[in-house]
Amino acid sequence: MVTIDELRRKYRDFSLEGVLILCKLLNVDKSYIYTYGEKQVSKEIKDKFIYFMENIIKGYPIQYILKEREFMGLEFYLEDGVLVPRPDTEILVEYVIDYINKRYNGKNIDVLDIGIGSGAISLSIANYCKDVEVYGIDIEDVPIKVANINKEKFNLTNVNFFKGDLFKALDGLDLKFHIIMSNPPYIASEKIKDLDIKVKNFEPRIALDGGMDGLNFYRWITAESKKYLMDNGLLIYEIGFDQGKSVSDILIKEGFSNVSILKDLQGLDRVVYGTKR
Ligand code: GLN
Repeated sequence: MVTIDELRRKYRDFSLEGVLILCKLLNVDKSYIYTYGEKQVSKEIKDKFIYFMENIIKGYPIQYILKEREFMGLEFYLEDGVLVPRPDTEILVEYVIDYINKRYNGKNIDVLDIGIGSGAISLSIANYCKDVEVYGIDIEDVPIKVANINKEKFNLTNVNFFKGDLFKALDGLDLKFHIIMSNPPYIASEKIKDLDIKVKNFEPRIALDGGMDGLNFYRWITAESKKYLMDNGLLIYEIGFDQGKSVSDILIKEGFSNVSILKDLQGLDRVVYGTKR
């Protein structure tokens, strides 16, 4: 038999992850781990703990093991096959919530999210703007499944998810939007190999790869979006830190007005938006 302390001390370099995984396996809080460290655990828990920790050492993201990640104050359910929500993306979400409240009084508008992943963007907007109807589209099955689990978890009824390739997901629905937003794949294919191991080896490549220069989705979505945006509607993107100028240029070329960049907490370009003329 082995004790909680013995398991915890086996992985000194990953002590934080170790404690979080023990909490999950034993269904207890952190203080329990430190208070009752001499308690013995079953062989089943021990084996699972070692299996998870060996994966952590290889760079497997802990969020896929814990199956959750906080974003905008909401505890999202997560699994392998969707991008782990990033704090940087809260910049886009906070801007959109503020925009909905100021410009539309928080009410009666339709918003589209392209590439939903766990549903982090769509569901945060739906949660904080209860009188807004949110639509989310994704080409893959896993994001649709995970986002629907989160929709249930947060008890939201003002969100609808559809599967399909970009705007094709909306075929036959006859929808137009006041706001279209997206955190599309934006890493240049060549640069994926330079990303952190956790990202490049374990997060879905389809959610990262933006083609040769990383800008494919901005080109495709911006051009198509005009058919689906109301006049004066807002198009807003998360971007890579070095894409502010190139994405702004795409919007300007497609005829968008008021094109602007928002910076993240590190002072790096993180969001580009513009309005349809
Ligand atoms: N922000 C992510 C990263 O740095 C990339 C997400 C994306 O391509 N949309 O890995």
